[in-house]
Amino acid sequence: VFGLEGKVAVVSGAAAGIGEACARAFAQAGAAVMLSDIDVAACERIAAELNEQGFEAKAIRLDVTSEADWQALTVVLQDWKNRWDVLLNNAGIYIGGLLENNSSAQVSKINQVNIESVFLGTRTAVECMKPNAMFGHGGSIINLSSIAGLVGVPGHSIYGATKGAVRSLTKHSAVEFAKFGYGVRVNSLHPGLIETAMGDQALQDFVDIGVVPNVDEAATLLKSAMIPMGRLGNVQDIANAALFLASDASSYVTGVELTVDGGFCAA
Ligand code: NAD
Repeated sequence: VFGLEGKVAVVSGAAAGIGEACARAFAQAGAAVMLSDIDVAACERIAAELNEQGFEAKAIRLDVTSEADWQALTVVLQDWKNRWDVLLNNAGIYIGGLLENNSSAQVSKINQVNIESVFLGTRTAVECMKPNAMFGHGGSIINLSSIAGLVGVPGHSIYGATKGAVRSLTKHSAVEFAKFGYGVRVNSLHPGLIETAMGDQALQDFVDIGVVPNVDEAATLLKSAMIPMGRLGNVQDIANAALFLASDASSYVTGVELTVDGGFCAA
């Protein structure tokens, strides 16, 4: 039940970081994977590599904030596999800084990329997955939130607010889709600090706002004082949890917030 054989998965933000690792994990678990990102060249490279390894993958350019791109994706899916089982709403951006220095333009931008995108992706997927719809057999939607959607972190106000919204959107849509018998599960993943380009940005932000003098000390502070397991997370930690939520192993799991943070939020 932990496998994805016969399933079709779409990953947003699949060109790098957590999205790339999840796309690879889904393909290795047997799914046909559509890798999507604004960086389509990187998705094409990863898809070609997966295909060479004997897995099934395809790349598409998708800006998660574009309704037209989401519609175009469904047409390509119909042509390619005529099926859609899993959506990982992963694409996102980080904008840090002290709240007093954040601008309305930054808030609008981060809301659009981190919240509106999840709404658009979820609506597109459920329109295809629900009974009597295009593919009509239910599915699993996984939304990337963050520990910053659960607890306060300096420099994370506007980013954390978007991730709190993603947590909330997850729970409301999970309940609605279950109640209306759509057979579509929706869950949120809450990574701690993960070693990716965005993770590096968040560490640098602790320096920029004056919490620590340099990035090494930021990492040391997290590992020694804030993360009980004593290490930062890696993309495979998140891919493994995403695989559980994507697969039938989690068939009775909907509306949960799964923290993958080395114990950060439990401490
Ligand atoms: P990343 O910056 O390494 O990669 C993000 C990917 O999203 C990039 O390939 C980028 O091109 C793509 N992207 C950005 N805007 C897009 C758009 N409008 N349309 C389509 N693609 C777009 O980030 P990551 O660390 O892999 O993070 C992935 C997700 O996990 C994000 O939602 C992030 O908020 C969340 N997260 C990350 C961490 C962390 O520490 N890295 C922690 C908690 C949550």
